[in-house]
Amino acid sequence: MKHGIEFKNVSKIYRKGRNEVVVHKDLNMAIGKGEFVALMGPSGSGKTTLLNMMGGLDQPTDGQVLVGNKLISKSTEAELTRWRARHVGFVFQFNHLLPVLNAFANVELPLTLTTLSKAKRRKQVETALAMVGMSERANHLPKELSGGQEQRVAIARAIVSDPVLLLCDEPTGNLDRKTADAILLVLQILNRDFGKTIVMVTHDGKAADFATRVINLENIVNAKADAAMSGVPA
Ligand code: ADP
Ligand code: MG
Repeated sequence: MKHGIEFKNVSKIYRKGRNEVVVHKDLNMAIGKGEFVALMGPSGSGKTTLLNMMGGLDQPTDGQVLVGNKLISKSTEAELTRWRARHVGFVFQFNHLLPVLNAFANVELPLTLTTLSKAKRRKQVETALAMVGMSERANHLPKELSGGQEQRVAIARAIVSDPVLLLCDEPTGNLDRKTADAILLVLQILNRDFGKTIVMVTHDGKAADFATRVINLENIVNAKADAAMSGVPA
């Protein structure tokens, strides 16, 4: 698989004192470049943990995580920080926009850490806002926007550096049906027309209508258990 995401025998165990929480054990999973995956599964099944590992925010306890040609599981914190800034955008359930900055300035924020010229930054912010249909609202503060519009701005902020990979953790979790559909459509367009690889953690049954594939964590775990019972390797 070229330049997608690959989990090879990944285990993730949180340890606190003598307590162990085994979140993932020997997980194998592949997501191709250009896919739009809806990652589903019950609460606590480790979806956020997986997303964090894909984005280099967390590392596996065991096994390999490969994103593009970056081996997450063998990189240092500093390497991952640099890599993330160039290659990954994050969108969360709560948009985390800064209330004192207008939409333009919120989207520009990640670029202020780069060496791009002011003119170049402006152009990238304008492009990102246009991609989510928010050009007209560039001067508005978050409190002057609807929930769906705020989430669009958060998506624009995530794509302003033109990352190949967009990771979304329940991006529609806080939105009504109609607004959620509009956000899913924006993500679908980013995938289909702008070539972003997208992994979206979601509880939203309708996400399947927009994504190119649904991965249900429960099925992966159950399939492995079934295979173990019948002696067939998973
Ligand atoms: P999901 O996103 O599917 O709801 P998470 O990935 O957030 O699941 O969490 C999976 C499990 O790992 C949960 O049991 C959670 O309590 C545990 N967990 C997550 N992060 C930590 C952490 N930093 N320390 C200890 N346990 C954690
Ligand atoms: Mg979660």
